[in-house]
Amino acid sequence: MQTIDNYNFKNKKALIRVDFNVPLNDKFEITDDTRMRAAVPTIKKVLAGGGSVILMSHLGRPKNGPEDKFSLKHIQKHLEELLGVPVKFADDCIGESAKQQAAELKPGEVLLLENLRFYKEEEKGDEGFAQKLASLGDVWINDAFGTAHRAHASTAVIAKFFPNDKLFGYVMQGELESVDKVMHNPTRPFTAIMGGSKVSSKIEIIMNLLDKVDNLILGGGMIYTFKKAMGGHIGNSICEDDKLDLALNIMKLAKEKGVNLVLAAQTVAADAFSNDANTQLVPSMEIPDGWQGLDIGPESIAAFSKIIEESKTILWNGPVGVFEMPKFAVGTKAVADAIVKATAKGAFSLVGGGDSVAAINQFDLADKVSYVSTGGGALLEYIEGKELPGITAIRGK
Ligand code: AMP
Repeated sequence: MQTIDNYNFKNKKALIRVDFNVPLNDKFEITDDTRMRAAVPTIKKVLAGGGSVILMSHLGRPKNGPEDKFSLKHIQKHLEELLGVPVKFADDCIGESAKQQAAELKPGEVLLLENLRFYKEEEKGDEGFAQKLASLGDVWINDAFGTAHRAHASTAVIAKFFPNDKLFGYVMQGELESVDKVMHNPTRPFTAIMGGSKVSSKIEIIMNLLDKVDNLILGGGMIYTFKKAMGGHIGNSICEDDKLDLALNIMKLAKEKGVNLVLAAQTVAADAFSNDANTQLVPSMEIPDGWQGLDIGPESIAAFSKIIEESKTILWNGPVGVFEMPKFAVGTKAVADAIVKATAKGAFSLVGGGDSVAAINQFDLADKVSYVSTGGGALLEYIEGKELPGITAIRGK
């Protein structure tokens, strides 16, 4: 199979779909350049192989065409610093001038195209638009895992114009390798830890994981829907009353499939949703009126940690408490610590999906787990078992 490592880039123009959707402050300074840094190895590989690079990305959510605040020109200078080479800028991603700038590109040179989403056709997956983009390069590289779950022009539709010259970049390759390691052929025991506020947003993942994991640990606000469904008293804790039957069904399925489903049995209850609230430790089935569960208690920390530390494959998505408030971050920190310990003993650990990534960064432990996914929604859909258009476009079905 053709890969970025065995492809001959000599004198080729590589059109790379990157994810440069970075946060900017009101002075247009980049406040977190993680995604840009992640793309550097792919870009450098093409340049080192004697090719030139044309970069395309989206930035923000422009509504009606070009808007200065969403212009990718704001990141041009920082990109030059990261790459150590000059970066040219095309102020339109298609059209005559972009075509000419691309045509004039020499090996070793880099051209950054203006925001793809200045054209509605990008998100619509318009074929004509994809063809115009495709005409700029000789080979298409998809390195934007964050948008791999979208069938947009530059992330998927464009593939048909490069039947023999389409590749994953290193970001995509790394993400796929780690998620495939977890979802196919995991070393056992395989434990998933799911948290967050709502069961409803995690149903499909939980269902898919029930066929794969040995242990499914649940924490966070979502457990109170389970506790209530079991006849517990949950006080003012967050609960989805229309998901009680679903919670019971998940428990039944876990039993049938032989999955060890572990719900936090002990709760740190608070008398307000505030870091200054009074707290007490209570069984999760017996939360007094006027109190709400905002974290897991020490007994549950011990129970969770034991299972995690004995695991060989670990997937973590979602905090087990309101970790944004220091008082209720203890459980989530303990989960992170247990994952770090298991990893040090040789387990493979994947942390991904929004808030658990924020949590692991907050605790400064990102480099002590095996892989932190940049993929958010894309990662979750992959774990749900869905086909991602940006992956299928290259790998086939
Ligand atoms: P999600 O986006 O569904 O993964 O949820 C993440 C959010 O869940 C975080 O902002 C947490 O603060 C929140 N969360 C975790 N545990 C609780 C809880 N016990 N009660 C309310 N919110 C929670």
